[in-house]
Amino acid sequence: MGVLTKDTINTLIWIASLFLISSHYDGNAQVADSIIRSISNELSPKIKADTLNTLGFDLVFNNPSEARILFNESIQFADAIKYQVGIAKARKNIAISYDIQGRSNDAIRFYLDALKIYETLHDSIGISKIKNNIGIAYKNLNEIDNARKFYEESIYIKKSLGDIKGTAYGYNNIGELYKTGREFGKALQFFEKAYAILDSLDDAHGCSVILTNQADVYLDLEKYDLSIQYALKVIKIEEEEGDNYDLSLSYLLLTRAYLELNKLDSALIHVAKAEKITEEIGAFRVFYQSQRIKAEILKRKGDAHQLTLLYEKILILDDSLDHLNQAEETTKLKAGYESQQSEAAIANLRRESLLKEKLIASQKYQFAFSGIVIVLLLALIFIAYFFYKDSNKKNTQLQLKIAERDKAKEQAEVANFAKSEFLANVSHEIRTPLNGVIGFSDLLMKTKLDNTQNKYMTVLNKSALSLLDIINDVLDFSKIEAGKLELEIEKVDIFEIGKHVIDGLQLQADQKKLKMKLSVLSETPQFIVTDSLRLRQILVNLLGNAIKFTERGHIELRIEPIAGKNIVRFSVKDTGIGIEPKDQQKIFEAFAQVDSSSTKRFGGTGLGLTISNKLLALMGSELKVESEVGNGSTFSFEIEAH
Ligand code: ADP
Repeated sequence: MGVLTKDTINTLIWIASLFLISSHYDGNAQVADSIIRSISNELSPKIKADTLNTLGFDLVFNNPSEARILFNESIQFADAIKYQVGIAKARKNIAISYDIQGRSNDAIRFYLDALKIYETLHDSIGISKIKNNIGIAYKNLNEIDNARKFYEESIYIKKSLGDIKGTAYGYNNIGELYKTGREFGKALQFFEKAYAILDSLDDAHGCSVILTNQADVYLDLEKYDLSIQYALKVIKIEEEEGDNYDLSLSYLLLTRAYLELNKLDSALIHVAKAEKITEEIGAFRVFYQSQRIKAEILKRKGDAHQLTLLYEKILILDDSLDHLNQAEETTKLKAGYESQQSEAAIANLRRESLLKEKLIASQKYQFAFSGIVIVLLLALIFIAYFFYKDSNKKNTQLQLKIAERDKAKEQAEVANFAKSEFLANVSHEIRTPLNGVIGFSDLLMKTKLDNTQNKYMTVLNKSALSLLDIINDVLDFSKIEAGKLELEIEKVDIFEIGKHVIDGLQLQADQKKLKMKLSVLSETPQFIVTDSLRLRQILVNLLGNAIKFTERGHIELRIEPIAGKNIVRFSVKDTGIGIEPKDQQKIFEAFAQVDSSSTKRFGGTGLGLTISNKLLALMGSELKVESEVGNGSTFSFEIEAH
């Protein structure tokens, strides 16, 4: 097939279908979903990242929030292969989407993120463009000094790249800044510099923008003749260019200058031109402005009859303008609301990556502090054993008398509850000083230490972190037992969770040379209503176990719908050591491990599955296991999608 390899054809088909979707659903809330769902697995992440960026950009002006979903998705693909250009592009696009929604602060944050990458890539063009955009965003925030700083840096780069036109536009931007700050002398200097360049380049549009700015400044400076002169130049250009909107604006500018000079007839002629054009092209706001200015002219002329007629018209226009403003306000509010939602999604992503880092760090040093882990484990097992024995003994005696047994059972439950509550409180109390140890060892490590001291501190810090993990397990367990744990139910993107969990454990799997894959079957609903943190905790636990108990082969996280029901099944399958049938129930009990040598070999508290199962019980589900010794295990659970 020559150059048309299977991959190329696939790419073309995919891109074509995406364009079809995006053109069909343009502006519709489903579009991002549809696009992401149609991503073929066979394409390279780079192509996916690029295409999502392009499609997002097509959508961004109509629906910035939806476009942002595509950009975030693009970052995922780009990030997976460390495709820096793609990441930078997507971040920049996210910033643009915020810009469009008027959320300049958020825009700046993302522009700065993208800028950092462009700087490491030494991409001068990218850097200068972004700096210019940051300048605009600061201008919108009225932070004039910051805006000027970024504009100037951008111009400096453009100059060094020989981009004369860009430099001229940069000068115009700075001129506009001075104009806003009412420093008209400086503003004019920059406009003149910009005009000289753009004129020599025959850039008609650019010249017209600058001449309009100059006419505006002269109006403010009360140099009306000059203002008229410049406005006439703009009109000449715009008539040639055929840009009616800009033309109507320059007629209004001219009208204002004539009005100031009290040349009322000339003012009336030009306002009529603006009125006619804006009516034709439906530019309502400028039309409204023209009516207001016209009223002012008629008032000065003392034409009471015309003025009364016009006021009646303006009253009706006022009404329409109110409606228009309200409609725009609603759109803005909606845009703000939507972006707040995706703001939350981004916050989630950040929390995710923090968790991931913590996980990787604690895995790395697990062996170094196994001693502490074992001591704590033994203590825990002892406590558990003690309570277990104690209640068992009571139960045998109490079998003799049914009434007594019930009473004792109740007592045992109360005691168990009290124990769990006690454990919950104690673990909580242990966490506070432990956080002190972690925090201060962190700080100490940032001071000057020699190599040996540094090594000891690292072990100390990592040990404390691992201890914290264990305490967290105990705390979770006892909280559930004491009925203190409550789920935080929200709409959860399970595809994203699946991907993150797999990413988070990839390093661990790589270290054991195990293949790990995520399979999301078609028709699986992307969103379910549950507690995202806890769902993630369960999946991390199951996948962590799968890695721990597998020496070779692969591990799969499968997410699939149950046909005909509104239920999603999650299963974690490994090719590891497997579990004997007799042990398959035992492992769900607290502190239980298949045999005690397991603790020595693999570490762990024996609490992971218990906690997962109890969390699932709170979600109205349960953990199931299928396993064959030597052939591997599959742990699965089902959650209603709602
Ligand atoms: P931990 O792993 O911390 O000991 P868990 O409750 O997560 O505690 O697991 C309990 C026991 O179940 C493990 O010690 C192990 O014996 C067994 N087990 C769990 N997952 C697997 C698996 N994927 N393959 C084989 N055995 C497993």
